Amino acid sequence: MESNALMWFRKGLRIHDNPALDHARRGATRILYPVFVLDPRYLERDSSAFSPGSARSGLNRIQFLLESLADLDKSLRRLGSRLIVLRGGDPADVVIRILREWNIGKLCYEFDTEPYGQARDARVKDFASGSGIEVFSPLSHTLFDPAHVIQKNGGKPPLTYQSFVKLAGQPAPPIGQPFSSLPPVGDVGECENVGVPTIQELGYGSLGQVEFSPFRGGESEALKRLNESLVDKEWVANFEKPKGDPSAFMKPATTVLSPYLKFGCLSSRLFYQSVQEIYTNVKRHTSPPVSLVGQLLWREFFYTVAFGTPNFDQMRGNEICKQIPWSDDDKLLASWRDGQTGFPWIDAIMVQLKQWGWMHHLARHSVACFLTRGDLFIHWEKGRDVFERLLIDSDWAINNGNWLWLSCSSFFYQYHRIYSPVTFGKKYDPTGKFIRYFLPVLKDMPKEYIYEPWTAPASVQRRANCIIGRDYPRPVVSHESASKHCRLKMGEAYALNSASRGPVGGEDLEKLR
Ligand code: FAD
Repeated sequence: MESNALMWFRKGLRIHDNPALDHARRGATRILYPVFVLDPRYLERDSSAFSPGSARSGLNRIQFLLESLADLDKSLRRLGSRLIVLRGGDPADVVIRILREWNIGKLCYEFDTEPYGQARDARVKDFASGSGIEVFSPLSHTLFDPAHVIQKNGGKPPLTYQSFVKLAGQPAPPIGQPFSSLPPVGDVGECENVGVPTIQELGYGSLGQVEFSPFRGGESEALKRLNESLVDKEWVANFEKPKGDPSAFMKPATTVLSPYLKFGCLSSRLFYQSVQEIYTNVKRHTSPPVSLVGQLLWREFFYTVAFGTPNFDQMRGNEICKQIPWSDDDKLLASWRDGQTGFPWIDAIMVQLKQWGWMHHLARHSVACFLTRGDLFIHWEKGRDVFERLLIDSDWAINNGNWLWLSCSSFFYQYHRIYSPVTFGKKYDPTGKFIRYFLPVLKDMPKEYIYEPWTAPASVQRRANCIIGRDYPRPVVSHESASKHCRLKMGEAYALNSASRGPVGGEDLEKLR
């Protein structure tokens, strides 16, 4: 019997390697509704936030999403369809309503492993199943099914990368695009298809001329960027992270495919397969964990651990997280967030985050270490929140996983190894090009002082038009004494964590303060 199908897009904003879309158009599908519901959780303007955007998302990521939706709509139109964009509250409520009103017999959407997505989808699935609607929800955001890996590991997520890689095996290949047209879109009845809004139509109109990230959203951009990244086969074969220059910004040292993977504009299986094809045609190539394929496996690793760890995104109640008595200092936190610590390497990275929504991996290391166990001893959850909001590649599993790592709360425990906010960046960029670009206030500071401008004599500061303490802040801490203090506190916390069997409780934590 013929039926209407609903393809519910959330991530997976692409046509290629999209098994949910492929299934939606198959069989006796007469009408196919491709739908995206604008989620107020991410889009509703919050004027109290520290920078333009919603409470959970900076403007750059909202813009990236809108561009991705516009591109998806264009691609669907080429296939004889189009994207229906709906708003009107909680996406689960909106979808339940249209399941009723549009006489849907088949509901397809990509499986989502994040807690928010799981709760949302459970509500919709319950309703659909109870109403006799077929539900198809394949896994296509990641290479592997986290639940399968966890099952293979006896019910617990593997906690080291090496053990994960051993268990994971080979991913399935992408499904390609086995169709050249899609069934027509039906009548939407009482629902209003608002189309893909502009950022102004979302209520961000009063912001004037906003300068957006140089990275544009959408599947077309993703595929173009993938091809450009992989054109130099030697580069792909020799890719080795953490080698690479974190200060390279005009031509970043890595692919910058993360925002496209985050929104699913790019299939991780296509990325993986394309790199593997290059490997088969070169004499030698690097291997995980440092290779390009190795980077994709880091993504998988964090997805798997995040999926199998209750309270993964917090310290309390998270059994893989060390309990550490982080300090609470809103002033210091704000100086870090706003690029006002007085350490140009740190501040330039934070400005890049705000302006571009993307920074190199080692730049992320530098600022995350500085905020937590390196200098300021502030809770990783606070830094996580800032990244979560401002990154265009902001990803629940990967962001939390890396903050746990960098703060030595989980996965990595060598807390005595601290990135210097002065010498680390200098190794890559001795003249400070990166700093001068993102902190124009320091553009005329001589290279001898660019990483430590507070040491410049007054006459040099005057000539550079930058008086420290007036035009650019003095350092908020002395790195030498702050890092010593951090090591001490980490040592005490680690001792208490290992003395108590399992993570220490709230009471023990109070003793450490
Ligand atoms: P490439 O080096 O070209 O790697 C290709 C892909 O592999 C990336 O796009 C990404 O999907 C994956 N990958 C690479 N490194 C990692 C890693 N360490 N962990 C997991 N996956 C990885 N990445 C995000 O995608 N979203 C985040 O929210 C995020 N938050 C981070 C927070 C901190 C504190 C740190 C230290 C790292 C974070 N990362 C995050 C990981 C990493 O920095 C980025 O994935 C990477 O810099 C993206 O650039 P790229 O696409 O050029 O990476």
